Amino acid sequence: MPNLNQHPDDLRLDPWLKQPENRVSVPDDAELACLQEISLGAVDVIPEALYFRRHDGQDELWAAGLRHGAPGKPREEQLATAYQQGRVARAGSQGTRAAGAEILFRALTASRHGHVWPKGFLEGPLITETTHRRILGELEAEHDRNVQEAEAQAEAAIIIVARRLGLRPEPAGDSPSAWYADCPGKSHRLMISSNSNQFGCGYCRKGRRC
Ligand SMILES: [Zn+2]
Repeated sequence: MPNLNQHPDDLRLDPWLKQPENRVSVPDDAELACLQEISLGAVDVIPEALYFRRHDGQDELWAAGLRHGAPGKPREEQLATAYQQGRVARAGSQGTRAAGAEILFRALTASRHGHVWPKGFLEGPLITETTHRRILGELEAEHDRNVQEAEAQAEAAIIIVARRLGLRPEPAGDSPSAWYADCPGKSHRLMISSNSNQFGCGYCRKGRRC
């Protein structure tokens, strides 16, 4: 996609629907982008419908986690029995509707890496099976590259400290300097940046420079 910004500055993501304004029903004028299967953790795979909406110069991606028997049923029925639904991504409109949907799908999928990952493609039309496969491949390759680059910083001061403290630091794959480590005394992981010597815990809302 030439001349399209894959990482728009005005991109807003809410993959876990934490903001009440996004936790609303999929609007009627949102069109199906694709139906896919996603894995939630180790064993649970559910169908998910993604919808695209272009409205007032803004592109939006809406997601609905569906019941197992939902694919093939009418849209109203699928949405009426959805586990949850809401607006997961938005940004200023770019290119064709398919291009806009691809940009938001890529950003959403990248943000859920490590938690939720597409396992299969069921139907388009806006995001085709070919596009779906290509984006997943590109994201996996980017993740692997980031892990390799982070491993080259394994002797950064903050990583050495984390290792000495027994916090099991390991590359996160989100960026070339992103690491995970155990949050001391807690059962969750925090983030470390190996090039800026900073850490932050999204659960404890703590962060600091070392
Ligand atoms: Zn913490």
